[in-house]
Amino acid sequence: METKQLTQGEIELAAQILREGGLVGIPTETVYGLGANGLNPEAVRHIFQAKGRPQDNPLILHIPTVDWLERYCREIPDAAYELARRFWPGPMTMVLKRRDVVPDVVTAGLDTVGMRCPEHALCRALLAAADVPVAAPSGNTSGRPSPTTAQHMLEDMDGKIDAILDGGPCSVGVESTIIDLTCTPPRLLRPGGITLEQLRDALGQVAVDPAVTRLLGAGEKPKAPGMKYRHYAPKAPVTVVTGPAERSAAYIARHAGAEDGIICFDEFTALFRSEERPRTVMDLGPAGDKEEQARRIFDALRAFDHTHVPAIWAQCPDAEGIGLAIANRLNKAAGFHIIQA
Ligand code: AMP
Ligand code: MG
Repeated sequence: METKQLTQGEIELAAQILREGGLVGIPTETVYGLGANGLNPEAVRHIFQAKGRPQDNPLILHIPTVDWLERYCREIPDAAYELARRFWPGPMTMVLKRRDVVPDVVTAGLDTVGMRCPEHALCRALLAAADVPVAAPSGNTSGRPSPTTAQHMLEDMDGKIDAILDGGPCSVGVESTIIDLTCTPPRLLRPGGITLEQLRDALGQVAVDPAVTRLLGAGEKPKAPGMKYRHYAPKAPVTVVTGPAERSAAYIARHAGAEDGIICFDEFTALFRSEERPRTVMDLGPAGDKEEQARRIFDALRAFDHTHVPAIWAQCPDAEGIGLAIANRLNKAAGFHIIQA
């Protein structure tokens, strides 16, 4: 199949493809998604095929406005409306009890469903035009880093999906925060653009699922099924180095091989790439600018797949604010191979 590349003016065409059961690459503020009509089980099955996604990993249902929540969810707690009031439209997904209209294939058979109302203007226009809830995971081939540009998504999906709507580079750069509101206290399942601090400010106590910060043991099951898979991973093995930026940079400088790839804060680029060492170095942004680091993290991980580096070393910000999401994605890319400098 030929993948059509659509621009702003072609929203109606993208909406029509969705309504008719096709697959469309969708820009959002977090990452590009691979969308289908969420009420059409056959269309949703094609998402799993195009990505090579395991059947037990549910999708998120995207809606244009908060008042669609009642159509697909039941026993909605007040906390959901409070979070929606503060953070929707935006990079936050709420896990709620689902209604029977939501096909099993969307929720991977769970009795809950992940719901999100995205902020990206083009995405909102598309959801409104399609007039159906859009089921979508990230638009990468399963296991690869999530796409943050239309070009990334084409790398993985060209010829496998009907169309991709180009909405420019994603402004957040990491996937949505997922919070489970079916348990007490509510539980953070995946850190993202809405921070743990913001969630606690809104709700008081919020638990953090162990899968966010460490590798789970053989018998342990994360509440977001997607968190158990090796994820976001470039082809070369990754080592994450934490601690103050000067310390982690010095540690990597001492240990990295001459051919190794480096992900570092802008301040240290020159330390790793010199005339005698023409290494592949991806800048993550200034050490103090985590928003920029979040925007660049997946592009950095993806870039190494076009090289032959034997190993990758990455500096990592502290876990405050969106740092928790950046650290989570880096740690998962590294299979939680983390060194404290
Ligand atoms: P992606 O946006 O590509 O990461 O895919 C959606 C993510 O949402 C996956 O990590 C899923 O495991 C998670 N998710 C979707 N629905 C649910 C649900 N009902 N309960 C827990 N996690 C969910
Ligand atoms: Mg994904």
